[in-house]
Amino acid sequence: FTNRTLEAREMGGKVFQRNFKAVMPRVVKGEGIYLYDEEGKRYLDGCSGALISNLGHGVPEIIDAITEQLKTIEFAHTSRWRSAALEEAAEEVASIAPEGLDYVWFVSGGSEAVESAIKLARQYFVERDGVSTSKALVVARWNSYHGSTIGTMAVGGSIPRRRIYSPLFKEYPKIVAHYCYRCPFGKKYPQCGITCAHQLEDIIKNIGSQYISAFIAEPMVGSAIGALVPPDEYWPIVREICDRYDILLIADEVMTGFGRTGANFCVNHWNVIPDIIATAKGMAAGYIPTGGIIIRNEIAETVRNGSGAFVHGHTYNGNPVSGAATAAVIRYMKKHDLVTNARLQGEKLGRGLKEIEASNPIVGDVRGRGLMWGVELVMDKESKKPFPKSKGAAALAMKECLDRGIVIYPGGGMVDGIDGDNFLIGPPLVITAEQVDELLNKLEEGL
Ligand code: PMP
Repeated sequence: FTNRTLEAREMGGKVFQRNFKAVMPRVVKGEGIYLYDEEGKRYLDGCSGALISNLGHGVPEIIDAITEQLKTIEFAHTSRWRSAALEEAAEEVASIAPEGLDYVWFVSGGSEAVESAIKLARQYFVERDGVSTSKALVVARWNSYHGSTIGTMAVGGSIPRRRIYSPLFKEYPKIVAHYCYRCPFGKKYPQCGITCAHQLEDIIKNIGSQYISAFIAEPMVGSAIGALVPPDEYWPIVREICDRYDILLIADEVMTGFGRTGANFCVNHWNVIPDIIATAKGMAAGYIPTGGIIIRNEIAETVRNGSGAFVHGHTYNGNPVSGAATAAVIRYMKKHDLVTNARLQGEKLGRGLKEIEASNPIVGDVRGRGLMWGVELVMDKESKKPFPKSKGAAALAMKECLDRGIVIYPGGGMVDGIDGDNFLIGPPLVITAEQVDELLNKLEEGL
C-alpha cells in the first residue's frame, strides 16, 4: 500500500471502528462478485461480505426497485400505515417459504429477527394459554451465533463475543450442536444414535417443558464454527421432540436462508417445517438493512385473533424500501434460478475444497452444502490438534488470501472451549464455474 492509503487507514476518520487495529483496505467499488479498493486492486468476494451479498454487487434490478420505492414513499411508520411494498414483499417471501408459514414480520437485520422470534414465541403461549403461563425460556446450543444484542447473546454461544458481556444477561439453557469432526460425546456417526439431538429431550425433562417456549438452532451452524452440516436424522428428531413437548421450533436461517445452501431455506433439505424462521442477510442481499421472521399461520392467527398486536417493534421495522428490495431480490433469484446455481456451483466448490483438504497438511476438515462451506485448520491432521490461539491461524489465512485477491470469513473459534480455527467460504449465488476455479486456486495458494 502507498503511504497515502496507509495514513488514511490508520486515521480511519472519525469512525468508531469495529477493529481499530485491523489493517483493512478501503473499498471504493463493487461489481458482480468483485470488490475494488482505492488502489484499484480487485478482490473476489469469497464470502459475500458475511454470506449476505448473494446477488453480487451493483445489480440494476435491485437498485432500480429501491430507487423507485425511495421516490414513492421512503418511510411510513408501521404502527400507523400499511404499505403496498411490504405486502408485495410478504407475498414473495411466503411463495418460497415452507408450507404453512405465510406471515412475515419485517425488521432490519438478523439480531432483530432472532429477538423478534424469541419474543413472539413467548407471546404466542401467553395468547394461547393466558398470561399466567410459565412458558418463556428458550433452549439453544453452545455451538451457535444468533446475534450481538443482549437477548441474542443469551441464546448464542460464541464465547469470544460474549465473554465480557455475560454479566448483562441471564444465561439460557443450552445443549451442544452436531460437531461431528470433534464429537462432544466422543462418538462416531451413525453409531452415535444422534446423541446430540436427543440431548434436547434430556434438557427439556430437566427443566420442565412448562417453562420452555422454544428451541432455537441454525439448520447449519454458520459463523461460530464453520458450516456444520447435521446428520440427516438430526432435524426430524428435533422437530418430533419439540412437538411432543409443546415447544416451538425456531430455525435461525439468518445465514442459511434465501438459497444459500442450495435450497430456498436450509430446513428444506430435511423436509422439516419450523414454527418460526428468523432470517436476514440474503433477504435483501446487502442492498439495504433487512431481516424478518416467517411465522407459522396458527401462531400468527393466534395473535391476530387474540390481543391483535405484537408487543414488540422498532421504528425502522417494516420500512417500505427494505420491502421493495426483498421483493426484487426474490424475483431476481427466481428469474435466474439462483438456488439451482448455488447447488450446482456448490457441488463444484465442495469437490475442489475436498481436494485441497486431501493435499494440504493444515486443512483438517471441509464441510458444507450449497454455497456455504467451512474449512477447519489444524496443526496435525491425525490428532486434529488445533493451532495455539496465539497463532490466529484462520485470521492469518484470511490475510494471505486477501493479499492474493480473495476474501474469506474467519469464524469465531473457541466455541464451548474448543480451540478450533475455521473459516467460511460462501461466494455470491451468482458465481460461475470459472469464478469457482479462480476462488479455489487462490485459496489453495493462500493456504
Ligand atoms: N444469526 C445467524 C445465524 C447469523 O449468522 C447472524 C450474523 N452473522 C445473526 C444471527 C445476526 O445477524 P445480524 O448481524 O444481521 O444482526
